[in-house]
Amino acid sequence: MIEVMKMDPLIRIVLSEQKLPPARQYKWSVYAYHFQKGNANYIYNTLTKQCYLLEASDNAINTRNLYTTLDMDNNASLGQLAKDYFLVQEHEDEDLLYENLTEIARSLKHRKQKKGFTRFTILPTTACNARCFYCFEAHKKPVTMTPEMIEQVTSYILSSRYDGKIHLHWFGGEPLICSKAIDTICRRLRQQSVDFYSTMVSNGSLITDEIADNMAGIWNLELIQISLDGDETEYNHRKQYHTAKNSPYRVVMDHIGILLRHGIKVRLRCNVDSRNLNSCHRLIEDLNCRFPDKTNLSAYFTPLYEVQAKENSFSVWESCFGMNDKLAAYGFSEKSGSNLHQLALQYCMAQNPHNNIVIAPDGLLYTCEHCLPGTAIGTITNGISENNILKQYSSYPPVPKKCSGCAFLPNCTTFSLCPITRSSCKELQEHALLRSLHRELS
Ligand code: SF4
Ligand code: SF4
Repeated sequence: MIEVMKMDPLIRIVLSEQKLPPARQYKWSVYAYHFQKGNANYIYNTLTKQCYLLEASDNAINTRNLYTTLDMDNNASLGQLAKDYFLVQEHEDEDLLYENLTEIARSLKHRKQKKGFTRFTILPTTACNARCFYCFEAHKKPVTMTPEMIEQVTSYILSSRYDGKIHLHWFGGEPLICSKAIDTICRRLRQQSVDFYSTMVSNGSLITDEIADNMAGIWNLELIQISLDGDETEYNHRKQYHTAKNSPYRVVMDHIGILLRHGIKVRLRCNVDSRNLNSCHRLIEDLNCRFPDKTNLSAYFTPLYEVQAKENSFSVWESCFGMNDKLAAYGFSEKSGSNLHQLALQYCMAQNPHNNIVIAPDGLLYTCEHCLPGTAIGTITNGISENNILKQYSSYPPVPKKCSGCAFLPNCTTFSLCPITRSSCKELQEHALLRSLHRELS
């Protein structure tokens, strides 16, 4: 047996080698996931992230058997698998093991956490120049930061920030509608010698050479995510820009070129449903022709949120995986973030309000970037005051009944307060995990 992936170092600290009292029966952990790649057999622990390649000499190991310590004494591989929690005592409550482990790991991590916010998600406006049918801001009255608010936001960042490098994430609406606000905040922070970098989510339609100069310079923009939901016809149809003269698709493609020439990393997010699948294939070919140098260009396909919420979304996920493979074959890098080596301790930034804060254009503070009514935790003038809401976001309820005993639970932390519904379940998790494992081991 050969160890091909090590345990998550944080889990290794929390979880010392399992003691194996004799005269007990040991069962396979629900997190011990067996898979094949070619003719090779592997066993991966979805909780600890450790992976072993089983050799011919391990043929006696049967993944359906119960074992005793006597069996482990006679088979070194079995003994090692038990010490590493691939086998657990017959009556072990593994939901509890997962809950306790993540809680201890979180508290260890929080102890090392920096004082002050390290990440500010800032919405200069909730207005947008496009009208995507799937936008969560649709039907809401747009709000934009006033000049006074821009000054107050700057003061709030200065007074609440971590005293080292901070991350400004520009979100909206379309943040570039308010490029002047971004400019002012970044200039003020520079005047105060604040060390920061930026990222942004944008539709990419409002970029000019001058804005790109500012992005690369004053804003220290490292990455911009742009949504591109199909080929020219489909994209122009889906975006419904308010003031489109030329083809918005061609405009955005030109803007991506400007960004890349300025050395800014561009990530394309392609939202998929059953109606734009074919056009997404054409989009891949077009991107490949237009951008032969993909050094700073990544792309990924993912189902639209409304598709993710449907029970039968797996076929769209499968198509996305296929198209992502095609992107990889063409040399585009994919969005990273698989939980292959690191146990996910929280669902998203909203569950870590000690280091992350979201600032809405009206000065309300949130932990979730969707800024749902009734979920503000304070204001930039008075700071955090809604401790009950804060507590709800940063609490971790017990494993839900439907997830009890699921091998994929450690990769699939759920969060009931997230407004985005994801109904995809074991089939999808298994597919995604296998895909990552196969890539890792190739
Ligand atoms: S949501 Fe589904 S895949 Fe995820 S942990 Fe629960 S049962 Fe498993
Ligand atoms: S709770 Fe959901 S919508 Fe809010 S930040 Fe987290 S993942 Fe995004």
